[in-house]
Amino acid sequence: MLRTMFGFEAFRPNQETIIRSILDRRDIFAVMPTGGGKSLCYQLPAMLLTGTAVVVSPLISLMKDQVDAANENGIPAAFMNSSLNAGEVSDVYRRLKYNKLRLLYIAPERFALPHFQETLREAALSFFAIDEAHCISEWGHDFRPDYLSLSRIKELFPSVAVAAFTATATEKVQRDIITKLGLRDPHVVRASFDRPNLFYQVRPKARVDVQILEFLKDHPAESGIIYRTTRDAVTATAQLLRSKGIAALPYHAGLPAEERSRNQEAFNKDEVQVIVATIAFGMGIDKSNVRFVLHADLPKNIEGYYQETGRAGRDSEPAQCLLFFSRGDIPKIRYFIDSMPEAGERAIAVEKLNQVIGYAGHNVCRRRQLLGFFGETYPHETCSGCDICAGSVEQVDMTLDAQIVLAALSATGQRFGAGHILDLITGADTKRMRELRHDRLAAYGTGRDKQKKYWRSVLDELLAQEAVMQEGDPYPVLKISPKGSGILSGRERVTALRKEEGTAQPRKKKHEGEGYDELLFGRLRSLRKTMAEQQHVPPYIIFSDKTLHEMSRSYPRTLEDMKMISGVGEVKLQRYGRNFVQEITQYLGEYPAAAGSSRA
Ligand code: ADP
Ligand code: ZN
Repeated sequence: MLRTMFGFEAFRPNQETIIRSILDRRDIFAVMPTGGGKSLCYQLPAMLLTGTAVVVSPLISLMKDQVDAANENGIPAAFMNSSLNAGEVSDVYRRLKYNKLRLLYIAPERFALPHFQETLREAALSFFAIDEAHCISEWGHDFRPDYLSLSRIKELFPSVAVAAFTATATEKVQRDIITKLGLRDPHVVRASFDRPNLFYQVRPKARVDVQILEFLKDHPAESGIIYRTTRDAVTATAQLLRSKGIAALPYHAGLPAEERSRNQEAFNKDEVQVIVATIAFGMGIDKSNVRFVLHADLPKNIEGYYQETGRAGRDSEPAQCLLFFSRGDIPKIRYFIDSMPEAGERAIAVEKLNQVIGYAGHNVCRRRQLLGFFGETYPHETCSGCDICAGSVEQVDMTLDAQIVLAALSATGQRFGAGHILDLITGADTKRMRELRHDRLAAYGTGRDKQKKYWRSVLDELLAQEAVMQEGDPYPVLKISPKGSGILSGRERVTALRKEEGTAQPRKKKHEGEGYDELLFGRLRSLRKTMAEQQHVPPYIIFSDKTLHEMSRSYPRTLEDMKMISGVGEVKLQRYGRNFVQEITQYLGEYPAAAGSSRA
């Protein structure tokens, strides 16, 4: 069924285990990263078991796409939500009653309705699948009160298995989800959070507008998201891109709901290339061919950053995640944090911000850092999928300068904040300096030969590497950590990164088999768009980028050849195979030499 219906050669990690559990009618709780292939985990068993599988999904905007995608593979599926009219609702009810549906997507508020529960009780159900299950936990970041009604699911349907899925769950949230849903001795599966096809990189942010345009010049016609912190910045960047002839639209919570969903739809359907957005954008984006995610401003925390970058490359084809990092962005977030009313909350936010600064500034494989953040140890020495491992970042030893800063802290008893310490190092002649008699210390003026701005960056680096800690609120003082003591005494060295200008090369071109005929791909992509318009579905639902790349590599000229392409199941072969074969044949007629090398 994996082959015939979905056109895939093999399961992704954990898919088979999850599917077997569902077939054994056992409850299951699965954590899989975005793009891990959750949908298949319930679509496939829904086809193998008798009855209807009920899929609870939080976003009405997504349900239609998911149902379209299932239908495209020949799975009888429908959704039921507030967007349907009475006639459509009774039609779905009828199909449910006569066992004509394999998949029924519903929103959680639907499940809460007593008459709907009654209807489900009379229907033949195969199992329940709960998507975005973390929405049931108050500890999670997307808590939705509507999800709490799902806690009655096992009580009302004791003999129906429940499969809960999420892409984000700490151990604590995981326990909470299992308890709240009342899962019985569930099979728990935690997939690795690694996204091997994503290339992570951080570049110093200078004139970010120019940098964005440069990036886009190298990635013409690729779909992507640009995240900005403020609505104004979103508007400005979107306007700038349009003025340069790039099809871009803005998205932020300040836009009217209608415009927002129109812009999202246009992006989803490849009518525009780029969406410029605040973090309000993303929930409800299933688009699999997002080829890049740029962060033009510093994210507030790693969880958010990971989720946002996770929207790239769901089709498992290479995609870029690029963060433009400037320490100048830190005060803006600090300002935002300072406005939080509660001290505990502020402290957590500061810690999270420091983790992001550490991520951007540390001299450690980005992938290792991100996975470490989710409690996972990356098993390899280098990943070759980040700028650090790809060697585009040069390391400089800054031990001597670090010692100057640490010595200044030590000489003043670790009782002062950054401003005073920097004054001390640069030998500033201030009233405070004289009053404290710090101008008589040996540390006074030891860093006179360099500018204060430079010493600020050294201090920031030490903070990011946790050699120096900030303590106290509202007047934080700098303290030397054990790591800092090691550096001061010469037992440890510190290195920092100096980034080279230009882009690190993503591994796209390096990997064997990942190259493809770009000209042909462009043609297949426009054919896909035409077909998508006819069918009223987003293009990636017809065929993913991965599938088109494969066609542009192996040039299938017959339906038999076409069947071998990953992502071409029987129904899609019937529906679209001929058109695509025709396009490829015509292309080869124009460029007979094109397929030459692939035949080797
Ligand atoms: P998730 O919901 O976990 O983010 P999806 O279910 O949207 O992920 O799947 C992401 C992409 O991976 C889709 O394009 C899907 O068709 C593809 N996919 C899923 N399983 C496989 C597989 N076994 N082989 C190849 N591609 C797969
Ligand atoms: Zn790496």
